[in-house]
Amino acid sequence: MSDCLFCKIAAGEIPSTCVYEDEDVFAFRDINPQAPVHVLVVPKIHIGSVSEINSENAAAASRCLEVIGGIAEKEGLENGYRVISNCGPDAGQTVHHLHFHILGGVKMGEKIV
Ligand code: AMP
Ligand code: ZN
Repeated sequence: MSDCLFCKIAAGEIPSTCVYEDEDVFAFRDINPQAPVHVLVVPKIHIGSVSEINSENAAAASRCLEVIGGIAEKEGLENGYRVISNCGPDAGQTVHHLHFHILGGVKMGEKIV
């Protein structure tokens, strides 16, 4: 999608701090970190959110999940971490390109979730 921030970041058209990249997936540091480690993992193809995952694009979404464990290990999150994907307005999704937040490096509260 031509006007999507994360499409542009994944294509290298907008700078970011990349922590992982392969043919299908791009991962980079969140610009406004909510934890000592806050990485965003996105598919290189445009998928709007979890709601838009379907049989055509599920492999790209699943590739994001496949690489999260390795990124977390490299980031030193051996004590655990949280993976979040906000979907739609009630969840506070602000960028409409599927992304998985990896949050860690701190003991998190028990709420949400
Ligand atoms: P969400 O609110 O779940 O849609 O998450 C969007 C995330 O993207 C937020 O945590 C933002 O801080 C982050 N973000 C927005 N613009 C950038 C950017 N240019 N580089 C890195 N992270 C960004
Ligand atoms: Zn996009």
